[in-house]
Amino acid sequence: MRDEMKKEIYHSTRNRQLTATASRAVLEGLAGDGGLYISDAPAGAAFDWRELLGRNTLDMAEAILSALLPDLPDMGTLVHQGYAGKFENDELTPLVAVGDRYVLELFRGPTSAFKDVALSLLPRFITAARQVQGVEDEIVILTATSGDTGKAALEGFRDVPGTRIIVFYPEGGVSPVQQMQMTTQEGGNVCVCAVRGNFDDAQTGVKQVFSACRERTLPGVHLSSANSINIGRLAPQVVYYFKAYAELVKSGRIAVGEPVHFVVPTGNFGDILAGYYAKALGLPVGKLVCASNRNDVLTEFLTTGVYDRRRPFYKTTSPSMDILVSSNLERMLYLASGGDDAYVADLMGQLKEEGRYQVSEPVLQKLQESFDRGCCDDATAADAIGRVWRQHHYVCDPHTAVAWHVADEFMARQQDGAPVVVLSTASPYKFPVAVLEAMGEATDGDGFTLMERLHALTGVPVPKNLDSLRNKKVRHTDVIDKDDMLRYVLDKIAQPSWKE
Ligand SMILES: *Cc1c(COP(=O)(O)O)cnc(C)c1O
Repeated sequence: MRDEMKKEIYHSTRNRQLTATASRAVLEGLAGDGGLYISDAPAGAAFDWRELLGRNTLDMAEAILSALLPDLPDMGTLVHQGYAGKFENDELTPLVAVGDRYVLELFRGPTSAFKDVALSLLPRFITAARQVQGVEDEIVILTATSGDTGKAALEGFRDVPGTRIIVFYPEGGVSPVQQMQMTTQEGGNVCVCAVRGNFDDAQTGVKQVFSACRERTLPGVHLSSANSINIGRLAPQVVYYFKAYAELVKSGRIAVGEPVHFVVPTGNFGDILAGYYAKALGLPVGKLVCASNRNDVLTEFLTTGVYDRRRPFYKTTSPSMDILVSSNLERMLYLASGGDDAYVADLMGQLKEEGRYQVSEPVLQKLQESFDRGCCDDATAADAIGRVWRQHHYVCDPHTAVAWHVADEFMARQQDGAPVVVLSTASPYKFPVAVLEAMGEATDGDGFTLMERLHALTGVPVPKNLDSLRNKKVRHTDVIDKDDMLRYVLDKIAQPSWKE
């Protein structure tokens, strides 16, 4: 390995002295001081972005990921093993023209979730990082899920040697389709368990297990999470911005060098931050438009510079965006402040202690140079689903619909002729109740009835992975109290194998 690859190019957003190689950052997830791992030189010099545009998606991914995670060996193999045959095709993320804009479909993976793009690779990165770091321990992944992350993580880690995964979901707190997706999960290294409580209970429980296990030694076991703050989850998302841009060049819509705007339905700020990374790597990204639902903490922040999580939490029809503390924003604060680690540490301290912080005028200006923003409520998103269907015969899910509406407003103010790409993060079949309701159709019946109804109405094929659930055997039936999560994890880890 060349020496420069082994450099500790990553460090905590809160302390530049706390450095790590890419592989250590992937293995640890979070830095020791609670900060997020970031690199000061986003690898821009390492490759020629123009040359990338002619490559196929997997080769593009290999080049970009080698630049971002330089000490992970044999990136080409990791990318091919992670993706090949798992998505509908090897283009991974198709770009579709819909009316006066484009939709970038990120949900064509093995679980019909946008999380598949990153979680198909993260397990490969973790096992490669384990080898680079000489860690012999088995990696045990613990994750709490509100729906999509759990299934995508299970599918990504399934039967990956040297790893096991335990997923907790709130009993009755995920959609029936999502529950079926998880309880029927196959694989010899997977475990799924319902928790009596809501998502926050499950999430808090997982955090408590992590801190309890830090205090005792678990021989041969290294606990880790599949959480979106891991740089190994962020990096794969940079690729589809390049891919979308390349498609627009190929179709003659733009010449190389002309800007493209991206509208991104946002929760933890990972997806949209990946767009900023693409820009930092040289891609001519115009505006990155941050789209939120009724939980509009980011809209307010990008407008006023004040981040205030002390506000009501709304459950919406776009649940993956129901977030008040947007974790990846911390990386953007570091970048927008010109790499001021003490400043970021101070802001994060204020957020923790007071629930609020305000960034300085120069930082706000810097953010507004790159980011636009908007939000809408459920009724407006439903209206967008209905309109897009009637006008363009395209079916979008509620998360995508939020972004579609925000794109409407953005395009009314920004009339520069540059193409607008709306990122689409979920299959409409994942949220059939909200979609059918928005179309004015009946919503009675179980998950499969609803999927069939949506199919009969629109002719859009039901994704195979969802349709085949009805024939799958339920394999995971455990339900526990939230106070029993630690005992459950310790029992499970003590079992040498989970194979049936
Ligand atoms: C996770 C998710 C989002 C939000 O993505 P972030 O990277 O957290 O901003 C949006 N839509 C869907 C369907 C998701 O699953």
